[in-house]
Amino acid sequence: MPKPVIDYKKCTNCGNCIDICPMQVFEKENDKVVVKKPEECIGCRACEVQCPKGAIKVVD
Ligand code: SF4
Ligand code: SF4
Repeated sequence: MPKPVIDYKKCTNCGNCIDICPMQVFEKENDKVVVKKPEECIGCRACEVQCPKGAIKVVD
């Protein structure tokens, strides 16, 4: 099962991944972007490609 992993040393909490994920996997919690619903991930890698900081890796 694919799921995104956020490297918080790189993430700026810009929220871009929240906007681009077609499955609403990401959410903001207390001003921090989190992988809220990893079970919904379809592995499209849009988040990985479009994160401006290269902070997301989609793992299997
Ligand atoms: S797009 Fe990248 S830098 Fe922006 S909130 Fe998501 S993981 Fe963090
Ligand atoms: S790989 Fe696609 S479905 Fe999975 S979290 Fe990233 S954008 Fe969402």
